[in-house]
Amino acid sequence: MIPYGRQDISAEDIDAVTEVLRSDWLTQGQAGPRFEQAMAAYCGSRSAIAVSNATAALHIACIALDLGPGDALWTSPNTFVASANCALYCGADVDFVDIDPRTYNMSVSALAEKLEAAASQGRLPKIVVPVHFAGQSCEMREIRALADRYGFRIVEDASHAVGGEYLGRKVGSCDYGDATIFSFHPVKIITTGEGGMALTNDPKLAERLSYLRTHGIIRPAQRPEEPQGASRIAEERANEERDGPWMYEQIELGLNYRMTDIQSALGTSQLARLDPFVARRRELAARYDTLLAKLPVACPWQHPDTNSAWHLYVIRLHRNEIRLSRRQVFDALRAAGIGVNVHYIPVHTQPYYRKLGFQTGMFPEAESYYEDAITLPLFSRMTNDEQDTVVAALRKILA
Ligand SMILES: *Cc1c(COP(=O)(O)O)cnc(C)c1O
Repeated sequence: MIPYGRQDISAEDIDAVTEVLRSDWLTQGQAGPRFEQAMAAYCGSRSAIAVSNATAALHIACIALDLGPGDALWTSPNTFVASANCALYCGADVDFVDIDPRTYNMSVSALAEKLEAAASQGRLPKIVVPVHFAGQSCEMREIRALADRYGFRIVEDASHAVGGEYLGRKVGSCDYGDATIFSFHPVKIITTGEGGMALTNDPKLAERLSYLRTHGIIRPAQRPEEPQGASRIAEERANEERDGPWMYEQIELGLNYRMTDIQSALGTSQLARLDPFVARRRELAARYDTLLAKLPVACPWQHPDTNSAWHLYVIRLHRNEIRLSRRQVFDALRAAGIGVNVHYIPVHTQPYYRKLGFQTGMFPEAESYYEDAITLPLFSRMTNDEQDTVVAALRKILA
C-alpha cells in the first residue's frame, strides 16, 4: 500500500535522538529551547513554545487569550476536530464559518457576513481559528482587517502548513494573528513522533503559554510583572526566599503539556530538512497537476498570495462526468494498493457536535466538498514511480 502520508526519518535524526537518550536530560534540558529558538528563527517569530501536540497548543492558546464560558470561538468546518474542541475544553461555545469552494479554507466573505450578523446580536466571537487546509494559508490579511474591525483574536491552526508561505513570509511569522499552531504528528510536514508548538510575537502571551504548559508554575525569577492570581503572601514569601533554589510558585491552573528533549532533538534535526521536504512536496504536487489534467477531477486551486507546504493533495471528483460514486472510486483505489484518505468529515456533522445542536445543511460548501473529495498519497519520500502508479490506478478506475 502506498500511504497517503509518511514520515521521513534519516540517520541524523536517529543520532540526534540517541544523543539525548545518552545524556542526563530526557526532558526539560536544553534540547527544548534549542528547537524553539530554531523554529522561531525559521519562521521569523519572536517566540515559540514546544508542547506535547498541536491539540495541547490550541488548548493553552485559548486559555492564554482568556477564552471561557460565555465566549465563542469560530473555526472552519473543514478541519480536524481539535481546531474546534479547544474551545469546548475552556467551557466556551464553538461555531463554524463555511469554506471558500476554491481554496477549501475559511471563506472571508462568509466570515464577514457572519460577523456582521453577530455584531448586531452582540454575539461576536472572542477567537477565530483559521485553518490552513492542506498547507495553503488562509487569506490572513483580509482576516486581520476583520479582526481589527470586530475585535476578535486570531489563532492560526497551521498544523498542515509548517514551511508554507503567505505573501512572501513564512507561515508562523505571526504577522497577522496572536498565535500560530504547528503539529508534528508523523503524517504532517516534519515530525517529533507526537508534538506541537505555539508561536507568537507577543511577549506576555509567550510567557503565559510557557507556564500554562508546565502546571502554571514559574520560578520567582521568571515572575511576570503582574502575576495572575499570585497572592500578596506568595509574593512576600518569594521575596524573602528569593535565593532558595527549591522555590517555585504556581500562579495559574496550568497543565503538563511539555515536549520531551527526545522529541525536541528530533524536531531540530527534522527542521534542518524542512525546506527540502517542502520543495519535494511542491514538485510532486505540480506533477500531480500535470498528470491529472485530462481526468474528470478538480486539482487543488492555489490562491496567488500563498505558497503551500502541501501537507495534502486533495482532488474533487467531477461526479456528473463519472458513473461511480466517491465511495466506489475510493474503494477501488484502496483495492489497487493506493492508501487514499478523506479530509475532512465536516466537524459540525460529528455525533458530538450534533448533540450540541449542529445539523447537516448548516455549512453547505464544506458538506458538498466533503462528498467528492479524495486525498491522494503525498509525502517527501514518494518516488515519481509511486506517483505514476497512483495516477495510472486512478485513470483506469475513472475510464
Ligand atoms: C493534526 C491536526 C491537529 C492536531 O494535531 P496533534 O498534534 O495530533 O494534536 C489539529 N488541527 C489540524 C488541522 C490538524 O491537521
